Amino acid sequence: MENFKIDVDGDGIALVTFDVPGRSMNTVTGSVMRELVELVNTIKGDDKIKGAVICSGKTTGFCAGADLGELNERGAAGAAAAPKSEEEKLKTQFEQSFTLNKSLRALETCGKPVAIALEGLALGGGLEIALACHYRVAADNPKIKFGLPEAKVGLLPGAGGTQRLPRLIGVQNAAMMILQGADKSPQEAKSLGFINDVVPAGSTIEAAKTWVKANPKAVAPWDVKGYKVKDNPYSPGGAMASVGGNAMVSKQTNLNYPAQRHILSCIYEGTQVPIDAALRIESRYFIKTANTPQAKGMIRSLFVSMQALAKGGNRPQNIPEYAVKKVAVIGAGLMGAGIAYVQAKAGIETVLLDVNQEAAEKGKAYSKRIVDKDVSRGKLTKEKGDELLARITPSTDYAMIKGADLVVEAVFESPALKAEVTKKAEQFLGDTAVFGSNTSTLPITGLAEASVRPKNFIGIHFFSPVERMGLVELIRGKETTDETVAKAIDYVLKIKKTPIIVNDFRGFYTSRCFGTYPAEGVEMLMEGIAPAIIENVGRQCGMPMGALEVSDSVGLDTALKIGKTNAELNQQDYRKDPRAAMLSWLVEDKGRVGRKGGKGYYEYGEDGKPTRIWPGLSEKIEVKTKECPPALKEELTQRFLFRQCIEVARCFEEGVITDPRDADVGSILAWGFAPYSGGCISYIDLFWGTKKFVEEADRLADTYGERFRPNKLLRDMAAKNESFYDRFGAKKAA
Ligand code: NAD
Repeated sequence: MENFKIDVDGDGIALVTFDVPGRSMNTVTGSVMRELVELVNTIKGDDKIKGAVICSGKTTGFCAGADLGELNERGAAGAAAAPKSEEEKLKTQFEQSFTLNKSLRALETCGKPVAIALEGLALGGGLEIALACHYRVAADNPKIKFGLPEAKVGLLPGAGGTQRLPRLIGVQNAAMMILQGADKSPQEAKSLGFINDVVPAGSTIEAAKTWVKANPKAVAPWDVKGYKVKDNPYSPGGAMASVGGNAMVSKQTNLNYPAQRHILSCIYEGTQVPIDAALRIESRYFIKTANTPQAKGMIRSLFVSMQALAKGGNRPQNIPEYAVKKVAVIGAGLMGAGIAYVQAKAGIETVLLDVNQEAAEKGKAYSKRIVDKDVSRGKLTKEKGDELLARITPSTDYAMIKGADLVVEAVFESPALKAEVTKKAEQFLGDTAVFGSNTSTLPITGLAEASVRPKNFIGIHFFSPVERMGLVELIRGKETTDETVAKAIDYVLKIKKTPIIVNDFRGFYTSRCFGTYPAEGVEMLMEGIAPAIIENVGRQCGMPMGALEVSDSVGLDTALKIGKTNAELNQQDYRKDPRAAMLSWLVEDKGRVGRKGGKGYYEYGEDGKPTRIWPGLSEKIEVKTKECPPALKEELTQRFLFRQCIEVARCFEEGVITDPRDADVGSILAWGFAPYSGGCISYIDLFWGTKKFVEEADRLADTYGERFRPNKLLRDMAAKNESFYDRFGAKKAA
C-alpha cells in the first residue's frame, strides 16, 4: 500500500499512518479507496493485530476529504465515455460510490477495536473515516476543524456521514451541521458527542492506544442489540428536525440546491432503518446528487477553478515570480482606503496618497476602524493590529512612490485627472514597476496613452467593499505585456484575492454583463409586471438581490449616465428610449438617485435599508401582472438568467474574456450570478447544453426582443453540440 503504513507494536496494536505520497494534505483519492479494502482485510485477518490506531503522516492534519479535482475529472470523463443505458450507468456509479461505505462498514465491524488519533483537521471523507472508528481522540487545539462541508460544493457526505453523525449527536444537531457544512473545534465536537476525548497536542496516539488496549470488544453503538436512533423522525425532536428542516431549507435555498434537500431525505429515511440499509440509502442519494448539474457546476467553479485561480492558474508562464513589497495607492477615497487596508494586511508597505494630508489620513482611518473592531472582537491582537497600521503611510508627497513595485490609482473617474496622476507618479517609478488603474469604466488602452511605459500599464479593477470582495478583474490594454499581467497576478494573489483576466472593451467583463440583470428587471417593470414579483423571482432564481434593488444600489443617476453615453455612442436620442425616459423621470424630475440618496425604486428607512417599493411608481407604470403562477416564475427566471449568459457568450465572441473559468468564477464573485449553477458558462453548458440553450434563447428573442438573440458563436457551438469548456480549453480549465 502506498497510502497507508502499518506498524504493529509489542501489544499487537497496529499503528496505521495515512500518508498520501507527494501531497501536503491527505485526500480520499481512488487509490485510497482501493487500498482501504486491503487495509481493513489486514486488520481483520492478521491474528497478530489485536486492534488499530489510525493517525496521519502529515503535519497539516488528518484528511481534507474527497479529492474533488479527481471527482471533477471523473465527471468529465464519464460524460465523454460511450453511452451505456441509464440503468447501467447508475449501477456502475452506485457500486463505485458504495465501495467506500462498504470498506468503512467493514472496518467498523472487523471485530477488533479501532481508534483514531486526530492531531489536525478532519473534513468530509476524512471525518467520515473517523466516524467509522470506535473511538475518536483529538488534540486540544481550537484551530483544528472537524466538519462535513460537502453541501458547500453541492454534494452530500457519501461515506456514512449522514448516517453516523445523526446517530452520534442527534438528528437535529447533525442536520444543522451537514446542511450548512459547518465545522467544529475539538472541544465543540466533544460536547456535541462525535469526538470522545480531547487530550494535549502530541498525545493523541498514546491516548488512542490506551483506549484500544482497554476495550478489546469494542463495537459501534448502533451495532449493540436493541439500538434505536434516539430522535428518529417519529420522536418529538426528530419530527421538529424534519418539518422545521424542510421549511428552513426551502426558505434558505429557494429549492435551487438539490444537495440540501437530499441531505434531509437521507437523514429522514436513513434513521428509520438499520445502519446497513441506511448506508445504501445514502449512497443512492449521493449518486443522485453528484449527477445534478448543480453539483458538477459547483465542484468545478467553486472548488477546482477557484483553487486553480488562487494558485495563479491563469498566469502567463515562464515569468519569474514578482515580489511585491511596496505599493503606492493614489486616491484615499472609498476604494483607495480599502485597497490600502488589504495590502497592509498582506504585509505590503503601503503609501496612501491624496490631494491633502487630511484626505490621506482619512483613508488610513478606514483601516484603523477595521483593526479596532477586530481587536475588540479578539480576532486580532493589538500588536498585530499596530503592525498592520504602521505599514500604511498617508501622504501628499508623490516622491514617496520611489521604490514601489506597483502603483494602484484610485482617483475620481476622470480621464484627464487619471492622465495627470499617471504622469506625476511615473516620475518616481522604477522601470520595471507596474502601474495599475482601478477605473471601473474607462478603457485601459486610452488611459495608458498618458503613460511613458504603456507596456507596464494594466487595469486592476477592485470591487467594493474591497476587504470583503474576493475578486479582482485584471484588464489588459493593447500594449500590456504578459510580464505585466503576471506581475499584477502576483500582486492580487499576495493580497489573497482571486484574479481573472479580461481584455479591454467597454465595461470590461464584469460591469458589462452584470448590468444586464437590473436592465431586464426594468424591462419587466415597463411591461407592467408587479415590482414585488420582479424582486422575488430575482432572488428566488439565485441572485443576491432583486433587480430593482440592484439598480438602486448602483445608483439610478449612474445608470442614466451610462444610458446617455451609450445613446451618444450609437448617435441616438436617449429620451426616445422608454427605459432611459423612465430613468430620467426618476432622477431628473423626482430626484430619486437610488439608495445613496435614500430614494429610488424603493423607499429607505433611516438605517439605509429598503422598506417598500416607492408607491409613486404607479404614476408612470400601470401594473398589469399581479399574480405569479409557476409558469410565469419559470419564464421570468429564464429571462433573468439567459440575459446575463448571452452577454457572457458575446464577451467570448468578442474576445473580452477567453477562459471559461474566469467567466464562471467572475460571474459568481463579481455580481453573484446564481452560485448553484457554477456560473454563467456552466449554466449554459450543464443546465441546457448549447443546442437547447440556443433554441430557448431564440424563443425568448421572438417573444421579448433581440437582446436574447444568440450570437454567432453560440450558434456555431450549438450546431456541433459543443460546450464552452470543450471549445475554450477543457484541459486548461480542468
Ligand atoms: P472617491 O471619490 O471615494 O475617492 C477618490 C479619491 O481620489 C478622493 O479621496 C480624492 O481626494 C482623491 N484624488 C483626487 N484627485 C487626486 C490626485 N490628483 N491625487 C491624489 N488623490 C486624488 O472614489 P472611489 O469610489 O474610491 O473611486 C475611485 C476609482 O475607483 C474610480 O476610478 C472609480 O471608478 C473606481 N471604482 C469605484 C468603485 C466603487 O464601487 N466606488 C468600484 C470599482 C472601481
